[in-house]
Amino acid sequence: MYDVIVVGARPAGAATAMLLARRGLRVLAVDRARFPSDTLSTHQIQPSGTERLRRWGLLDRLLAAGTPATERVRFDLGGTVLQGRFPEGVLYSPRRTVLDAILVGAAREAGAEVREGFHVAGLVWDDRGVAGIRGRDGTELRAPVVVGADGKHSLVAKEVAAPVQRNVAPRTVASYAYWEGVEPWKGSEPWKGSEPWKGSEPWKGGEHRAGGEQRHGELYHRPGRAVAAFPTNDGLTMVYAAAPIDKFSTWRTDVEGHLLATLDRCGDLGERVRAGRRVERLRTTVDLPNVVRRAQGPGWFLAGDAGLVMDPVTAQGIGNALADAELLAETIAEGRTDYQRRRDAARLPIFGLTTGLAALRPAKGLNAVLLKAIARREASTEQFLGVFAGTVPVRTFRRSIPRMLVQRARGWAVA
Ligand SMILES: Cc1cc2nc3c(=O)[nH]c(=O)nc-3n(C[C@H](O)[C@H](O)[C@H](O)COP(=O)(O)OP(=O)(O)OC[C@H]3O[C@@H](n4cnc5c(N)ncnc54)[C@H](O)[C@@H]3O)c2cc1C
Repeated sequence: MYDVIVVGARPAGAATAMLLARRGLRVLAVDRARFPSDTLSTHQIQPSGTERLRRWGLLDRLLAAGTPATERVRFDLGGTVLQGRFPEGVLYSPRRTVLDAILVGAAREAGAEVREGFHVAGLVWDDRGVAGIRGRDGTELRAPVVVGADGKHSLVAKEVAAPVQRNVAPRTVASYAYWEGVEPWKGSEPWKGSEPWKGSEPWKGGEHRAGGEQRHGELYHRPGRAVAAFPTNDGLTMVYAAAPIDKFSTWRTDVEGHLLATLDRCGDLGERVRAGRRVERLRTTVDLPNVVRRAQGPGWFLAGDAGLVMDPVTAQGIGNALADAELLAETIAEGRTDYQRRRDAARLPIFGLTTGLAALRPAKGLNAVLLKAIARREASTEQFLGVFAGTVPVRTFRRSIPRMLVQRARGWAVA
């Protein structure tokens, strides 16, 4: 008998299992996958997520695997370029083969039992609610709590009929691949990484190693397109491009051609990528739902994509999964009852922002003016980047909008 069974052992599941085991609970995590293994996902971990990894003692393992740090980002929106440093912490972009294996290893070290290659086929019920899992081979395993951390097509969510709170139809087709020999954006050249970043509230004590030669993360939004280029392990550059989902039938006829043509609309990125060499196959998906499900019920919880999944255009999923794991470990170990409320409060604002951005429409009217106002001031740029980094609440950012617009208007008056 276990205290908790976790279905799925990637970011949400392995982190939940690790944190619960560290608190002394008897935990079983199962996954049909074996590790290390890749999964269909790019892998920017926002600074709030990497700060969690640091606090859990896992950041050094990412660094030991040669994962480069990204301290600055250049977000080119066509008419406006926002360029700056994340206000709190550092972004890392480890391959999922690296990250997920580190998390599974840490769960085992903490005392959790992890069964790989275990395919859950259903749940076991008693008169109280969910009471365990049933494997494909008929094995039944029991625990008073089952956590569904089994991704966006969660079997646990289906079996418990978790009510859907929000559902926005998929908006994008996304393709990505890895290139070697991509020169950094030339604006990065004279810039060296700063001293190790020392955290301030609320991440007091944080220290990330981001010294040495640094490369910017590059983001581009063009009408009907979003692009990201980030350095990852083994000296490779991950390049991602998204287009509206209704373009899929044309996009799929020549994915590489469409991807490269998209990069050609992003300054010299196309040229720099073409000068390099693609080292892995292109991956393309339209399986990009935007769904929020109820996350708790009798004997069950949902964490990560199983409970809330959104378009990758804002790269929030891994950070969300790690944050859910932390909330859930507190909830279960301390007998709290407010996981649903805290999960919704933390994630629904960025869910709304993400589904809006996934429409891939250019900013117009007041939004365009606001972006220009943000670009003018370093502090405003950092605050804007902090929303995606997970270190500035959307509400705090919204409250500062009138001030930014006034500063912009004053600038016009003086000009
Ligand atoms: C194209 C793309 C790009 C992305 N880019 C980013 C990005 O840059 N940054 C970011 O933060 N996020 C990104 N994401 C999102 C990110 O991949 C997910 O949010 C993240 O993987 C969620 O973690 P999870 O642990 O909740 O679920 P998953 O990573 O999906 O893990 C679920 C696990 O459950 C297991 N499982 C499922 N069903 C069963 C079963 N019946 N029995 C046993 N095991 C089961 C699976 O084998 C899997 O290992 C991207 C997603 C896509 C599709």
